Amino acid sequence: MTSTTPMAFTGAPLDLAENQRDAASLTVFSKADNARAFVMFHGRFLVKNGDLVMVHPLQIKGSHLYDPGPLFLGLDGKTPMFAFSFAKEEEALKLVKGAELDHLRNLSFLMDGRQLALAGRAKSLFDWHRSHRFCSNCGKESKPQAGGVTRQCPTCETDHFPRVNPVVIMLVLDGDNCLMGRGPEWPDGAFSALAGFVSPGESLSEACIREVKEEVNIDVENPEFKFSQPWPYPGQLMMGMVCQAKNTKITLDTKELADAKWFSKDEVRSVFEGTNAQKGTPFICPPPFTIAHQLIKAWLAE
Ligand SMILES: [Zn+2]
Repeated sequence: MTSTTPMAFTGAPLDLAENQRDAASLTVFSKADNARAFVMFHGRFLVKNGDLVMVHPLQIKGSHLYDPGPLFLGLDGKTPMFAFSFAKEEEALKLVKGAELDHLRNLSFLMDGRQLALAGRAKSLFDWHRSHRFCSNCGKESKPQAGGVTRQCPTCETDHFPRVNPVVIMLVLDGDNCLMGRGPEWPDGAFSALAGFVSPGESLSEACIREVKEEVNIDVENPEFKFSQPWPYPGQLMMGMVCQAKNTKITLDTKELADAKWFSKDEVRSVFEGTNAQKGTPFICPPPFTIAHQLIKAWLAE
């Protein structure tokens, strides 16, 4: 089982320029003729006709920005790439005539892979800054460092690095059937792979086995890692897995799931290929930019 299409939110052609993040280098980068920046406001991106709006960093001079100020994403070839989170909506909107602000979830259906990867990285970093403004060691306000990819506490000098939270997401298989669940807030008919956060002290395999047991009371074996995906809602790393069921009777944890069902490979294929329109769709599949979609697609291809 391999992913047959590029995973959304991966593939940003970025050199993170770890050794060029001192103040002098950042000033040179921000003034370079070819420097580019995209613009956010409260988690939404400035777009025009479905594309991220790119401005020169000097265009935002005088605008009110949220912490961490200019976020230096890295070098795209020789192009310094920045992102800015605006504090005032009207200042963001007036940068480009006809531009609008939209959520990444909506844009994920439209953007090309490269833009999506850059936007996902920026969103994860801004989300981390917003939730880690104060030092977790002494409680005083920390300051962004190195173009916004770390923070440091000026009081106790603790360095803080962006958090990435691992999540296991797995297809539970029983022969030619797979089990999927539906979260309580999801639209009717939407089903996807089970998922849950990895706990401290747990391997991916142990997390996979525990989560399936907790959510549907099914014992699984042979958990197998397939591929991963950064998921910027906010800063998660999805670990795509498959595992084999040892028994098949579903007992729902109703706090976690509204429903869970076994689906045959033929049913799942009919949804993916859109060949079930007359009969009514057995379920609504997760969209192509999700790792769940890729896990299902790879299973169908086996
Ligand atoms: Zn501190």
